[in-house]
Amino acid sequence: MNFTDLNLIEPIAKAIQEQGYTNPTPIQERSIPDILQGRDFLGCAQTGTGKTAAFSIPILQNLSKNKISNNHIKALILTPTRELAIQIEENINAYGKYLPLKQLVIFGGVKQGNQEAALKRGVDILVATPGRLLDFIAQGIISLRNLEIFVLDEADRMLDMGFVHDVKRIIKLLPQKRQTLFFSATMPGEIQKLANSILNNPVKVEVTPVSSTADTIKQSVYFVERENKLNLLSHILKNDIADSVLVFARTKHGADKIARKLQKDNISAEAIHGNKSQNARQNALNNFKSGKTRVLVATDIAARGIDIDELKFVINFELSDVSETYVHRIGRTGRAGSEGTSISFVDSLDLLNLKNTEKLIGKKIPVIKDHPFHTDDLVAEKRDSNNKPVRAGGEQGAKQPPRGPRNNGNKKKPSSPTASVGFKKPKNKNFTRKK
Ligand code: AMP
Repeated sequence: MNFTDLNLIEPIAKAIQEQGYTNPTPIQERSIPDILQGRDFLGCAQTGTGKTAAFSIPILQNLSKNKISNNHIKALILTPTRELAIQIEENINAYGKYLPLKQLVIFGGVKQGNQEAALKRGVDILVATPGRLLDFIAQGIISLRNLEIFVLDEADRMLDMGFVHDVKRIIKLLPQKRQTLFFSATMPGEIQKLANSILNNPVKVEVTPVSSTADTIKQSVYFVERENKLNLLSHILKNDIADSVLVFARTKHGADKIARKLQKDNISAEAIHGNKSQNARQNALNNFKSGKTRVLVATDIAARGIDIDELKFVINFELSDVSETYVHRIGRTGRAGSEGTSISFVDSLDLLNLKNTEKLIGKKIPVIKDHPFHTDDLVAEKRDSNNKPVRAGGEQGAKQPPRGPRNNGNKKKPSSPTASVGFKKPKNKNFTRKK
């Protein structure tokens, strides 16, 4: 199928062409005609499938058919993170550049003055994170009374991040008569229930289930002792990879530590995570996108959905306890059919996660041994009934930061989605293992 088969109006067709898109992705092929018809939509799709355009393009087209009035918000896109919100707004801006519609993104962590002023100037399409949206509603700055289209993006992540109550509060404020578009990478029970409660006879489309990794991504595993991981990372970046690399860290502290080590080794690197100010995060992202910074070290929440064109390399400094996270992480590369490479560092604590990840994706990930830090001596560290590491001598991983929630509907706000094993202080200066 070609975009020309989708009956898009000229201003949108032109903008899409300028983006370099020729063929709709599978989810776009299926969503655009039905959403244009006004149908509710349930899309089980992860980032990287083109889902943003899948809802943005028909929203723009439908809204542009009506007489544009400046005094109310017509479409709301609710998304869990600031980065995702910014990215969605950027996409809408690009696809709608030849239309007179106004879009705005609002999120917390920054002063509200500019956002408030823009709202007062009039907004047709609002992209928002739940907290800031509720703040503005409480202050009487935003009303959703005249909303026509509601998009809930990354619903499963809303649940993981403890935003589901906020989302439900927002839904209660929406007009009954509206079009609802619901997107989630996975469909745990609570999310299915939420979808059933807000969708009206939706078209259901599932693309690339979360357990599958794109064939275009070359995956590999490096077996390495924990204390050698930082040196292995520097080694790979100095010898094997010349391009930009996104590195995933499990904790904020870990992300900072990795970035510091790389900087010390003269590799330009920045960390991005929830403890950084919004400006610092955006600057780091911009520097990475423009190639000024070669390595971006991110926690899962900070990196989720980050849209970086032509990202070829992803490195998992540790494997997450939540196997689906692996699929999301490596999905940052190999997007929309382009080629990518993912490398995962595996130590004794990661072994079990590796096994679970391989089970989920249904294939063995090849082990690369050709590097100075390879070890054949890893022994899976035991875990207790809470899946916490039990160290030699029965000492539990008590000094480690607490684990974040698994994908189980935990409602507490985590400090990081998969916060887990922190970085143990290396035993000696050059980080090699003391025998
Ligand atoms: P998303 O799943 O919305 O995060 O989109 C993933 C990436 O695919 C983004 O970089 C989009 O710009 C890109 N993209 C979306 N639709 C298409 C398309 N039809 N052709 C090529 N690239 C696309």
